[in-house]
Amino acid sequence: MLVKEILNSNRPSLSLEFFPPKTKAGFDKLFQIISNLMQLKPSYASVTYGAGGSTRDDTANLVVQIQKDMGLTVVSHLTCVGSTRDELMSILEKAAEGNIENILALRGDIPEGETVWKQIENGFDYAVDFVSFIKKNYPHICIGVAGFPEGHPLTPNRLKEIEYLKAKVDAGADYIVTQLFLDNRNFYDFCERCELAGIHVPVIAGVMPITTRKGMIRMAELAEGACFPACLLRSVARAENDEYFEEVGIHWAAEQLLNLVNNDVHGIHLYTLNRSRAILQIFKSLGIRDATQF
Ligand SMILES: Cc1cc2nc3c(=O)[nH]c(=O)nc-3n(C[C@H](O)[C@H](O)[C@H](O)COP(=O)(O)OP(=O)(O)OC[C@H]3O[C@@H](n4cnc5c(N)ncnc54)[C@H](O)[C@@H]3O)c2cc1C
Repeated sequence: MLVKEILNSNRPSLSLEFFPPKTKAGFDKLFQIISNLMQLKPSYASVTYGAGGSTRDDTANLVVQIQKDMGLTVVSHLTCVGSTRDELMSILEKAAEGNIENILALRGDIPEGETVWKQIENGFDYAVDFVSFIKKNYPHICIGVAGFPEGHPLTPNRLKEIEYLKAKVDAGADYIVTQLFLDNRNFYDFCERCELAGIHVPVIAGVMPITTRKGMIRMAELAEGACFPACLLRSVARAENDEYFEEVGIHWAAEQLLNLVNNDVHGIHLYTLNRSRAILQIFKSLGIRDATQF
């Protein structure tokens, strides 16, 4: 099923993001986690693509396997950095063979260990060109793109940033999924700025529960520019041990979800980090059995 059809529903969607494990044992474990999370009746899932295409085959295999085994619609993330048009075409051909009809079209980050941006001859500099490329060659594919409510580090000019986002939508993107944010007010402001700029596709809210101190530090590194509200920092500082820390993170994410659902968000995208415990706890603490009760 196409994600844009799922997003036509009059209740918020729930999508769960996973990343491809490195080992066969990791794959088996992930399938147990996904089976466990199926009780939440997610609307669809998505699978990340390693920086610079480092998980190319693993991503494709995982997407196809989840679709087949779980009967769940899956979005395949795909980045264009470091690949030529021909390489991207062959990845898209394989995706079509695997019945993958939903793609999150991204530029991608500079791979870990590299410091400079390498321009690829006959490649794309920005996601917008990749979106046009997919739309031209695979018009039936449903395309999602990334949005950054708290700004993308490479574009400090926030007016330009929304212009660039609009260009991705005008090029054919069907919806936007946001980077994680911890303050819903920034998300609502972003949605309003999109509307004012003439962006009318659904905007899906990216939420990630903080469950460990180390995870919070990693989150700040990965989601550069993400704002950590003082109120949250005060709460985590009060947590006496790891268990309490996790409770604070789950409580915060649950409050975010409740507020988003009450404000008629189009959809919620949960960054699961391939774990189920915190995600299940969020729903439990809200007294919600599954996403059909949103
Ligand atoms: C929901 C989500 C999922 C993600 N999944 C993955 C993943 O699976 N794998 C992965 O490697 N990364 C992933 N990322 C990270 C993403 O690849 C990086 O954040 C990347 O730096 C930005 O990607 P983009 O698609 O938004 O790029 P773009 O839209 O190309 O934007 C990149 C930067 O260039 C600027 N820009 C755009 N157009 C122009 C222009 N014409 N002139 C000048 N500047 C311009 C933008 O404002 C922005 O600062 C994900 C991010 C999100 C939010």
